[in-house]
Amino acid sequence: MNGRKRIAIYGGTFDPVHLGHIEVAKRISELFEIDELRFVPAQVAPHKLTLPVTPGIHRYAMLVLATQQDPRLRVSTFELDTPDRRYTVDTLAHFKSEFGESADLFFVMGADSWSEITTWRGWERVLALVNHIVVSRPGYDINLDLVNSSVRQRIVDLRGSKRIPKVVNEAAGEKIFITDAVMLENSATQIRRALGEDDWNQLTRLVPSPVADYIRKYELYRESNEA
Ligand code: ATP
Repeated sequence: MNGRKRIAIYGGTFDPVHLGHIEVAKRISELFEIDELRFVPAQVAPHKLTLPVTPGIHRYAMLVLATQQDPRLRVSTFELDTPDRRYTVDTLAHFKSEFGESADLFFVMGADSWSEITTWRGWERVLALVNHIVVSRPGYDINLDLVNSSVRQRIVDLRGSKRIPKVVNEAAGEKIFITDAVMLENSATQIRRALGEDDWNQLTRLVPSPVADYIRKYELYRESNEA
């Protein structure tokens, strides 16, 4: 180890946070020996601008409830605190300057996000600013050819291995780790759709129970216009 802390940044809409997100966060934290993982709820993801999104304060509250029991998992208001939409590239630059040399940073994303990576603002800078951990997700291939060869050289494909090798410590420069250590179907769309159809039975199977209680209490997702 180089003596620096390992901080993971997990961005997303989290509308709502579900057990898939929590399992990804916990598993990645174990495998990569992450000291602290920060969920960073977005105002509205650029690719979801056309869909109504639950107010940030509710999404934040649900994340707080979902992470309350695990001291490594925290929630950041960085993206919610600004009136303008923030891009991941700005968020990563912010955390990089906050931590400086005191930490190695890892940005966590699912395979569906990876498949759109080249559409993100400043995507090459995004991939160069910090390390990345791309997590498998059923129904999404992880295509490594999406990126150009200089980015590809920084990819460390860990699929098939149950332990994270020393490369995380030893290799110089920011890496893009690909892992299939988590393979879960859960999605926020599935939850919103079920609740929009008044199917409340599924809820406790899909989100942590304090989050299920919160959704019921504040009557979130009563109406969903997602078919
Ligand atoms: P929606 O269904 O509304 O698109 P989502 O379930 O994909 O939502 P997001 O908040 O958009 O949730 O996801 C935040 C991040 O978590 C993204 O990088 C996404 O790829 C990742 N993610 C979400 N669910 C999973 C899962 N089951 N396995 C792996 N990664 C996931």
